Amino acid sequence: MKHAIDIAAAVNAKESSASAELATSLAVIAEKNEAINAFLFVDTDGAKSFAATVDERIAKGEQLPLAGVPVAIKDNLCQTGVPTTCSSKILADWRPPYTATVVERLIAAGAIPVGKTNLDEFAMGSSTETSAFGPTKNPLDLSRVPGGSSGGSAAAVAAEMTPISLGSDTGGSIRQPAALCGLVGIKPTYGLVSRYGLIAFASSLDQVGPFAKTVTDAALVLEVIAGHDPMDSTSLPEPAPSLVAHVNDGVVGKRIALVKELYEGADEEVVASVKNAVAALEAAGATIIELSIPELRLGLSAYYLIAPAEASSNLARYDGVRFGLREEGDDVTEMYEATRTAGFGAEVKRRIMLGTYALSAGYFDAYYGQALKVRTQMIKAFAKAYEQADMLIGATTPTVAFEFGSKTSNPMAMYLSDVFTIPTNLAGDAAVSVPFGTGENNLPIGVQILGPGRSEATLLAAARVLEIADGRA
Ligand code: GLN
Repeated sequence: MKHAIDIAAAVNAKESSASAELATSLAVIAEKNEAINAFLFVDTDGAKSFAATVDERIAKGEQLPLAGVPVAIKDNLCQTGVPTTCSSKILADWRPPYTATVVERLIAAGAIPVGKTNLDEFAMGSSTETSAFGPTKNPLDLSRVPGGSSGGSAAAVAAEMTPISLGSDTGGSIRQPAALCGLVGIKPTYGLVSRYGLIAFASSLDQVGPFAKTVTDAALVLEVIAGHDPMDSTSLPEPAPSLVAHVNDGVVGKRIALVKELYEGADEEVVASVKNAVAALEAAGATIIELSIPELRLGLSAYYLIAPAEASSNLARYDGVRFGLREEGDDVTEMYEATRTAGFGAEVKRRIMLGTYALSAGYFDAYYGQALKVRTQMIKAFAKAYEQADMLIGATTPTVAFEFGSKTSNPMAMYLSDVFTIPTNLAGDAAVSVPFGTGENNLPIGVQILGPGRSEATLLAAARVLEIADGRA
């Protein structure tokens, strides 16, 4: 499949059309989706009508940054009239009455939303195995997970169903599946991208971001979806940054710190890739230092108190009254209980119970309050590291894509998939995962580049250096 930037150029030049590009995408989806289960819903009619509109706009002389580019949308982002399930039975039949700002912006930029992609239920997981609608398969090896929670969005791009997609990243859910599927994934600075219309998991951590095969395509999508949105009170009051213009800026004179806590414990082949990436960046003109940031080791523990605490509150709204599923009961309490018992899967229930416990009177200080203090320590530790380095580098995930079922019986093993990605979410900073090298069975390895808030342009330029060094562009 062509890259997004090439599709847009061809459609803008009238050498192709949005309708033709959509037809190609729909044909690949029809051929592959049954085996991969990337899409929960393909909006064929809606997409055709978006494509017709783009073709009319181009005929009238408009030039659009994503003209005719098919895009897959994670099924926790609202789109008017299109089923939006969060991969949960509790929202199985829900159709939102409004569209997320990020989806509106993609449409305004000429992109064609083709459908909704599978995820771990309410974005809780690292493999898509907690989806109520069956797991997504990794297109590179059908016996392995695509990662999660945005596994469907990653698989859609890896299988060349669409050149780009949107995911959400609360603790790693864009970067981890990007790494496992051989893609570029960006977790933007908190507040850079609007959360309006993103169904909340943990509101202080959630951010929407892109998946793409190339750094330039990922930069292009982020440029379109970023920028202030008055509908999100946590949105940064500034316009979208210029990213595509800077992807070839390189790393000359940049200080990059290899951080021990961001790769220790990873498989040998993953560590080797990280070290090769460091060597490539040094050869391209960066200055490399080594750092230890011990606070990062506390990230996972703090996250598994803060994220469930916020989730327990956010998910209280699924009560059988306002949304989706309703199971009857003799009184209102029984109705709530029956609805939530039938509607939520085991992992979601586990998180709601953990979060409710952590917030309850008598335990608040010991758990939630303590986790917030750790979060503050983590923010300070990152800020100190960014006095010494412009960027940090490490692994995205400890291993390459793992086999189905290998971590489902042990939640802690699953949680550890995100040990390197979670700290950035707690700090609210930016990070990118870029494929670099391969491991077992030739499966891709993701290298993670982290920076302070608003450092996306710098991170993408470094990712581009690695993409070139790895022979991918
Ligand atoms: N895997 C992590 C979790 O289960 C992160 C999920 C996410 O980023 N949405 O919470």
